[in-house]
Amino acid sequence: MEKEKKALFIIFGGTGDLARRKLYPSLYRLYKKGYLKDHFAVIGTARRPWSDEHYQSIVMETIESIQVSKEDAAEFASHFRYQSHNVNDTEHYDTLLTLAEELDEEYDLEQNRIFYLSMSPQFFGTISQHLKSQGLLTSSGFNRVVIEKPFGHDYESALELNDEITEAFDEDQLYRIDHYLGKEMVLNIPALRFGNHFLESVWNNNFISNVQITLSEDMGMGERGGYYDDSGALRDMVQNHVLQILALLAMEQPSSYSDEDIRSAKTTVLKALRTYDKENVLKNFVRGQYGPAESVPGYREEDKVAPDSQTETFVAGKVLVDTPRWEGVPFYVRTGKRMKEKVGRIDIEFKSNDSHFFQADVQNPLAANYLTINLAPEEGFSFQLNTKKAGPGMEPSQVALSHHYSKEEVDNNPEAYEKLILDCLNGDSTNFIHWDELAESWKYIDTIRKVWDEEEAEFPNYTAGSMGPHASDELLEKDGFRWIWNP
Ligand code: NAD
Repeated sequence: MEKEKKALFIIFGGTGDLARRKLYPSLYRLYKKGYLKDHFAVIGTARRPWSDEHYQSIVMETIESIQVSKEDAAEFASHFRYQSHNVNDTEHYDTLLTLAEELDEEYDLEQNRIFYLSMSPQFFGTISQHLKSQGLLTSSGFNRVVIEKPFGHDYESALELNDEITEAFDEDQLYRIDHYLGKEMVLNIPALRFGNHFLESVWNNNFISNVQITLSEDMGMGERGGYYDDSGALRDMVQNHVLQILALLAMEQPSSYSDEDIRSAKTTVLKALRTYDKENVLKNFVRGQYGPAESVPGYREEDKVAPDSQTETFVAGKVLVDTPRWEGVPFYVRTGKRMKEKVGRIDIEFKSNDSHFFQADVQNPLAANYLTINLAPEEGFSFQLNTKKAGPGMEPSQVALSHHYSKEEVDNNPEAYEKLILDCLNGDSTNFIHWDELAESWKYIDTIRKVWDEEEAEFPNYTAGSMGPHASDELLEKDGFRWIWNP
């Protein structure tokens, strides 16, 4: 396959935070690696009336810390054009078409187009329809749309949005982003499972007692209070990132590493999630909201957050997967803001061994084995084993077999957005979300949301900087477990 890709990117929301922090640096990295070279161009669109020169100077600013030289950055930025655009105005799409055709000519792009929707989702449907009606979709090149989250607010709104977008694009032209699926250690989950026969052979309810997924953040709202207050942790994190990780952990081995097979294996898991009735939602899901701590405001005091907000900033839940492999194995998930540390990790606890061989007692029990997969900021894994303490007798002692990537290795890995943009250029949608996955995960989330929305929560119920409400610990204690990661 030819390394250099030919494409025109049209970025809606080209002045926004995501474009500046992630998209331009990712495009630059792809440029440095030769995937983008002479035959690419970018049109940034947004409401502000910027000139091309101003836009190019902003693009150069965003890559300042990674640029090879000023000349190199300027050469890269020279492929960028700006067009002020109101997404509702059809005439603006006509101007966009003229510019797109000019750039096609100038850079010989073979009419390949990637439309990147990096703005508020309320515009996604309108943009897609106008792209089609105003003739921006080409017939000889490819037309692909990258869609940012959130894709809907619940199942109904996601379906409505999907119907609007699919009036203009086919499912195989849609690249719904979940940037967790571009993270190296998330991609490593199937590699670890299916690349190591000994692991895959114990990856079931005969050997595993429970699985724990934690995505915690230490920060509060920053400038995102307005968005977050309408969303909450369940929609913002569990519906997408947490359930995607869970699906990768729980899926059966796909017949190949291809978009169709992987996505179908994940969809099977999402379909098999046990739906709870009201009593079981309240029993198995915990919501929390942080209150103030020393020098840190509580959620309700954050900018653009309602002073009596009922929005959860923390969720812990026990998810059950009704497949033969996972019968009786709880998947505990946990995510929240203003927790003690920013960490992404998976802990898989294996069933303990009742061996009488060791001199174990209450103070010094024979520990369960567990495998930890560190997603971020540390990347790697470790496997906790029982050995014997040095000296006489058979007192148990725990050691870990571990491998963690060095900071240099982590820094040199392609960033999630870089990887996903390259996948999109290659027409590989393996690590994007198919509609079937999205539909199933929203249906699951909606049942929890509905129960929560019927009852007022007693918020705030955890202190900023803690590991969430006490009920999150009780959720596991009831089953005889504990959170393995408990800093
Ligand atoms: P932002 O508010 O910083 O940028 C929004 C962009 O849309 C701006 O360029 C603005 O000019 C443009 N815009 C708004 N209304 C417009 C209109 N009527 N016509 C034309 N242009 C208009 O938002 P962001 O943080 O860059 O996020 C963009 C998308 O990416 C959102 O869907 C968001 O949920 C998603 N996202 C962002 C992040 C992040 O880290 N920023 C992370 C994950 C997902």
